[in-house]
Amino acid sequence: MNENYDAVIIGGGIGGLMCAYRLMEKREDLHVLILERGKKLEERNCPILSGKVKQCIKCKPCAIMEGMAGAGAFSDGKYNITTEYGGWLPSVMDAKEVLNYIHQADDILVKYGADKEIYHPNDELKTLCLQHDLHMQQAEVKHLGTDANYTTMLNFIHSLDGKVDIETEAIAEDVDKDSHEVFFTQKGEKKTVHGDTIIFAVGRVGNGMFEKWCNKYQIKRTNNQVDIGVRVELPYEIWENFSKKIYEPKIYFKNGHYGDRTRMFCFNERGYVVTENSDGVLTVNGHSYKDKAKQSNNSNFALLSSTFFTEPFDQPVEYARYIASLANKISGGSVLIQRLGDLEKGQRTTVSRLAQSSVRPTLSAVPGDLSLCMPKRQLDNIIETLHALDAVAPGTANEDTLLYGIECKYYSARPEAKDFELTAAKGIYALGDGAGFTRSLAQAAANGLIVADILAKK
Ligand SMILES: Cc1cc2nc3c(=O)[nH]c(=O)nc-3n(C[C@H](O)[C@H](O)[C@H](O)COP(=O)(O)OP(=O)(O)OC[C@H]3O[C@@H](n4cnc5c(N)ncnc54)[C@H](O)[C@@H]3O)c2cc1C
Repeated sequence: MNENYDAVIIGGGIGGLMCAYRLMEKREDLHVLILERGKKLEERNCPILSGKVKQCIKCKPCAIMEGMAGAGAFSDGKYNITTEYGGWLPSVMDAKEVLNYIHQADDILVKYGADKEIYHPNDELKTLCLQHDLHMQQAEVKHLGTDANYTTMLNFIHSLDGKVDIETEAIAEDVDKDSHEVFFTQKGEKKTVHGDTIIFAVGRVGNGMFEKWCNKYQIKRTNNQVDIGVRVELPYEIWENFSKKIYEPKIYFKNGHYGDRTRMFCFNERGYVVTENSDGVLTVNGHSYKDKAKQSNNSNFALLSSTFFTEPFDQPVEYARYIASLANKISGGSVLIQRLGDLEKGQRTTVSRLAQSSVRPTLSAVPGDLSLCMPKRQLDNIIETLHALDAVAPGTANEDTLLYGIECKYYSARPEAKDFELTAAKGIYALGDGAGFTRSLAQAAANGLIVADILAKK
């Protein structure tokens, strides 16, 4: 490792990697360093996924969220070719240009092994949804599957061998705004490196560090949205009519009583529910394999209710973390699972009630009562939306439908920036989920390419 680099990228997720890749395509002469606080992709092993433990033991670093390939490494690899959702890049640049970059990122991934098969929008299903006041967002979607996504990312990372320096288990602690020195700790040893350009590509897991850094240098950030809800798990047959045609139904419902919006997304056909550890707070997520031999009999999806805060409250991330921590507390340090029937009857799901359920859970979570930790507003929205969805996919609101909590998506606040360069910090850029510009693989990947193109021109 040198002491001086043309560019230091903090974060080896898809955003940071695409940025490094494009810099090498356009400016092979540049010296680029990636600092990644997690492990090499080959060394990332979640003890739950490998069957060693049943519940999250809070490894540091968390193999699911941290390490080369980022939070997407063990994801389902759903690649949404659209600007309709997946992030806010279209609010800072032309949507057509964003879509073009999403295609460019997809072409790169295909070169390293990603699937070419695309699911197309389906007007018949959209109409069916509209007839029940449900709004289906249309997009072209690719589904790589957790296994194929992993191999693609491994090939992609190795394409940087010998071109880009990569330091893993290297936690960036601070960046001097003026001197551009990056202070990091690697396996207990404190180190410093200099970058002419610094790029924060820290993902959601790096939100805490980036927030602290922005506060230190009084860099303004804005965001007041948070999405809170549950991971729904049910027999795969219930949503098969949708999944075989479009793979992922992304549907939102306008709740009658509160006027909120609750959305179904992150669908995983015949998949598994998993826990994720965001800076010590356990939440849930889902994924699925392409390999039929590894598939389960259940599908799962996120069902989250959006809340927009107004003055004086401006800490939506803390709000979500607080609610998720409460679920961790009452489940004895885990996540909760409840049958919809029990929730509606106002009773706790117990071990014996869960054992009688016709849906077998794919995650070992603690049977309990979500109403003890989730605010009434979000809980009402979720129950109402499950019944609305039941009209287009009968069985969704069955008694035995399993709800895991808490799932939340909090979006990092967006710093004041022009062309992704922080207004108050010359030569320092921010991109991807950690900077509040994106919330998906496709847009985070596109964001990496966009920033690299801006830098390559300079
Ligand atoms: C289980 C799961 C399933 C998902 N499934 C999908 C899906 O199917 N489709 C989809 O579009 N999206 C999915 N997502 C979301 C998707 O993974 C993210 O939107 C995407 O990874 C964001 O990319 P990023 O590069 O901005 O951040 P990340 O991928 O989060 O990468 C950021 C990297 O920065 C590192 N880092 C953070 N702080 C520091 C620091 N201080 N020093 C050094 N390194 C640091 C982190 O360890 C991490 O590796 C999923 C997420 C999860 C967790």
